[in-house]
Amino acid sequence: MADGAGPVVAIDGPAASGKSTVALALARRLGLLLVDSGSMYRAVAFLAIERKVTVSDEQAVGQIGRRVRADYRAELPEEGQLKVFLGSREVTEQIRSAEATGAVSDVSRITAVRDEMVDLQRSMVSRSGAVVEGRDIGTTVFPDATLKVFLDAAAEERARRRYREFREKGIDATASEVARQIQRRDEIDSSRESSPLMVSAGALLIDTTDKAVSQVVEEIARALEGV
Ligand code: C5P
Repeated sequence: MADGAGPVVAIDGPAASGKSTVALALARRLGLLLVDSGSMYRAVAFLAIERKVTVSDEQAVGQIGRRVRADYRAELPEEGQLKVFLGSREVTEQIRSAEATGAVSDVSRITAVRDEMVDLQRSMVSRSGAVVEGRDIGTTVFPDATLKVFLDAAAEERARRRYREFREKGIDATASEVARQIQRRDEIDSSRESSPLMVSAGALLIDTTDKAVSQVVEEIARALEGV
């Protein structure tokens, strides 16, 4: 790490691979800023739905991307999840609704949206460093990150985790619907033209299928000490 700057840890991976939980725990442990890039794309999807903009209208969705870039704010409380705001309005729950989740991969493939979100992510990270999680962080947003990590897990395990999460939150969905939605998102995210989900060169690969969150966090923290 050059001249006293903090580390930038890039964590990428497919849906429900454990990124959010691991990134949150790691940011708390290291006292670093947490940048959840997925929440930004989700905010675009949420606003598009609220404003009744069709996701295929690239120009209108691009404008919403500009709005989100200007208004997005996040706060990490001492306990619990990251809180997401657009201006003064909290949208933490809304951006995780089934509807926003169903539309997010379609808005994320629009290049104008990606350009805005990448600028937003870079502008949030200062010299103090950060844990940044998403799909293209190590490949595109921070290719010179101090440490790049790619988390993955067996498809069945990822579907099981997301289904459990939905049930805990009282979201109505069957296990097979959840599995199908994860599969659809991964397909779109991995095959889009603009910065698709892929393993960045030099990334530390961790299969989280049979690992506890604390084990994964420990592994990353150890790797960071060795950089
Ligand atoms: O991480 P999360 O599941 O909240 O991300 C939601 C969606 O946002 C992903 O399925 C993907 O379409 C998009 N995304 C992206 N690039 C990122 C982060 C998320 O395209 N860096």
